[in-house]
Amino acid sequence: MLTAHAVIDLAALRHNLARVRDYAPESQVLAVIKANGYGHGALAVAEALSTADAFAVARLEEALKLRKGGIEHPILLLEGVFDPGELGVAAAHGCEIGVHSMSQLEALERAHLHSPVTVWLKIDSGMHRLGVAPEQAAEFYQRLQKTPSVKNVVLMTHFASADEPETGQTEAQLALFNQCTQTWQKDLRSLANSAAIIENPEAQKDWVRPGVMLYGASPFADKDAHELGLKPAMTLKTRVIAVRDLKAGGSVGYGATWQATEDTRLVVVAMGYGDGYPRHAPSGTPVMINGKRYPIVGRVSMDMITVDIGDADIKEGDQVILWGDNPTVDEIAMLCGTIGYELLCNITTRVVYHYI
Ligand code: PLP
Repeated sequence: MLTAHAVIDLAALRHNLARVRDYAPESQVLAVIKANGYGHGALAVAEALSTADAFAVARLEEALKLRKGGIEHPILLLEGVFDPGELGVAAAHGCEIGVHSMSQLEALERAHLHSPVTVWLKIDSGMHRLGVAPEQAAEFYQRLQKTPSVKNVVLMTHFASADEPETGQTEAQLALFNQCTQTWQKDLRSLANSAAIIENPEAQKDWVRPGVMLYGASPFADKDAHELGLKPAMTLKTRVIAVRDLKAGGSVGYGATWQATEDTRLVVVAMGYGDGYPRHAPSGTPVMINGKRYPIVGRVSMDMITVDIGDADIKEGDQVILWGDNPTVDEIAMLCGTIGYELLCNITTRVVYHYI
C-alpha cells in the first residue's frame, strides 16, 4: 500500500509519562492532549495514559470526543467556554474550566449548574496571551469563591519562555505568580509545561501540565529527546515508489531547485505536504531508508518527495522513515525553521494510524 503511516508506540507514551513523574515526583500530572493529542490521536493517547491524573484540551469539542470515547478522567478546558450554553454542556460532562476573562467570570456567576465545577483561574504573569492581570486576580478569586456554581479554584499561569532558561523570564513570571497568589495558601497551583518541568523544579507545584514531552519530542532547541530520556512516540513512514537514474546537471522537482553535480540515483517517496510533511523542508533534510540516512533533494510536492541515494541499492517498495527515533521530528523541524509541535499537529487525514 502506498499510503503513509503514522505508527504510534503506546509504550513510548507510557514511558514518557513515567519520565514526567521522575522529573516531578511530588506533582499530579495533567496530560495535555489538545490538537488531537499533538497529532497522535487524542482518544488513543488518553487510553494509553490512563494513569495520568487528568487531561487538558483547548476546546469543548475535544473534551466531548474524549467523553464519547469513554474517558472518565477530569478534563480541563484550557481556554474555558465562551457562552452560557457551552458552560452547561461542559459542566454536564464533568469538565473543569479555565477562566481568564470577565465575561467568563460573569457567565459562571449567572449560571445555575446542577453540579458545581472546578475552575482553573489563569493569571497572566507575563506571557500576555490569555489570563487575568495580576492586579485583577484578587477580585476574580474572591468572586469565584462566592459563586455557587464553582466548587474550587486552581491557580494557574503559563510560561512564555520556559524553553529558553537563559532569558530569566520564567523566574520573573514565577516570582510574580507567587507574589500575586501568596495569600491563598489552601488552593492548588499549576504552572509548568514540559520545558519548565525539566528546567524549573521550583515551578512544579501541585499540578504539572506536560504536552510535548509525553509524545517524546523535546521542548528545547538545543537538547534532543533522547538526551532528556524521552522516546519518540510517532514514527512517520512510507515507501519508495520509483527508482530513477539522473545524469549530472539534471534538476529535480518543481522550480528545479536542486541540480545533480554528478551522475546519481534518486528514489521517489510517497510522502508530501498532502500528508503533512513540511513543504519548506530544504534539500538535505534526512530520511532513513534501510537503516541509513539520505538527503531529500528538490521541492517537497503534495504527494511525493525525492531522495538522492547515490549508488545505494534501494528498491521500489522499500520502507522510508520520515521521522521517529532517527531522524527525530525535532531535527526535521529545526531544518524547516519550526518546532516539532507543529509538524506533529500537521499530519493530515490521508495518513493511516497504527497503534502498537
Ligand atoms: N499548558 C498550557 C496552558 C498550554 O497551552 C500548553 C501547550 O501549549 C501546555 C501546558 C503544554 O506545553 P508543552 O507542550 O510545551 O509541554
